[in-house]
Amino acid sequence: FFANVELVPGDPILGLTEAYNADPRATKVNLGVGIYYDEAGRIPVLDAVREVEQRLAAEAKPRGYLPIDGMPDYTKATRELLFGVDSPLLAAGRVATTQTVGGSGALRTGADLLKKVLPHATIAISNPSWENHRAVFGAVGFEVVDYTYFDAARHGIDFAGMLADLRKLDAGTVVLLHACCHNPTGADLTVDQWREVIEVLRERDLFPFIDIAYQGFDQGIEQDAAAIRLLAESGIATFVVASSYSKSFSLYGERVGALTVVSGTAEESRAVQSQIKRIIRANYSSPSTHGAALVAGVLGSPELRARWEAELGQMRTRIHALRAGLVEKLAANGAPEFAFIQDQAGMFSYSGLSRAQVDRLRDEFGIYAVGTGRICVAALSLKNLDYVAEAVAAVSRG
Ligand code: PMP
Repeated sequence: FFANVELVPGDPILGLTEAYNADPRATKVNLGVGIYYDEAGRIPVLDAVREVEQRLAAEAKPRGYLPIDGMPDYTKATRELLFGVDSPLLAAGRVATTQTVGGSGALRTGADLLKKVLPHATIAISNPSWENHRAVFGAVGFEVVDYTYFDAARHGIDFAGMLADLRKLDAGTVVLLHACCHNPTGADLTVDQWREVIEVLRERDLFPFIDIAYQGFDQGIEQDAAAIRLLAESGIATFVVASSYSKSFSLYGERVGALTVVSGTAEESRAVQSQIKRIIRANYSSPSTHGAALVAGVLGSPELRARWEAELGQMRTRIHALRAGLVEKLAANGAPEFAFIQDQAGMFSYSGLSRAQVDRLRDEFGIYAVGTGRICVAALSLKNLDYVAEAVAAVSRG
């Protein structure tokens, strides 16, 4: 039966890590990853999380099934984090949140839902976007098109091009937008630009699908949710948010995400939620307990929540410091043209390095970056910053 099954090429980014692991050089650095590492090069275990984990272990509760749409304390805390506790939409019962298998599971469940509700719709994603966006929506049967986003020559957003492309989309097109810390470019819209984008979405009757995988990684919990807050106030009645705690809680493997759907009325919201439950029931039946219990335990305790926010703040501050440090050291090595890296947001940076320069970084210096020039700033450290800056300056000199 499997004789004609085609071998699909492996994920290029995971392949990069395999090559890095096999590299014998002691000075090697892997900037190809999508994970926040601490100064010691480890994935942090947050204190607030550790505390809940110890309590859970001591309680040793029975492991029953969760409801199909997840742990109620988790989903409630999630919608409050995304929309703010005082959001009128929450009070009106128009916001339903479902626990999902990471942010990826939220995207997939949201895609399944929209395919049912808008069977002929197209989805527009930024050019470039996180590669899995195309894969997830394509797998569900959406036609995936691009809208202009990044201007490589200026290392920033081509905002006029973006608005022009959005204006060309048919009514009912789903538009996927990164709320903050755009992956892969690190280039985010300003609040004023968000207002303009939202105005176009409203005018053209487009369907907003927000992906927020890095809330708190740029400016803070509230500031990084500005796009969601503005949409909530905009009068656009229906939209979807896929969110992830993988990075903000450093819980990558626990697969903690959520799909949040805003509906026009509380009644609509109940109907939509029943559809989501049907999708999940036929997919993996119900989500897993542990990661959600950790997040709900932290967010449900004022003391632990404050500790988490402080730890998240430290991660964010460290990323900003690494950006500043890299720019400074590049300039000191005769490469002042990288100043834009400091203005980018989140873990990732489109460095502007060409594929040939990325190859030289790998071959000559053992520094691994994605072929597009994407580097993970959070994989730098004060220990490797000088080495990386010297190497990047060397390959950019030609
Ligand atoms: N969206 C974006 C933009 C991401 O970068 C990621 C993670 N790399 C996700 C969604 C998925 O998050 P998760 O790992 O929680 O599935």
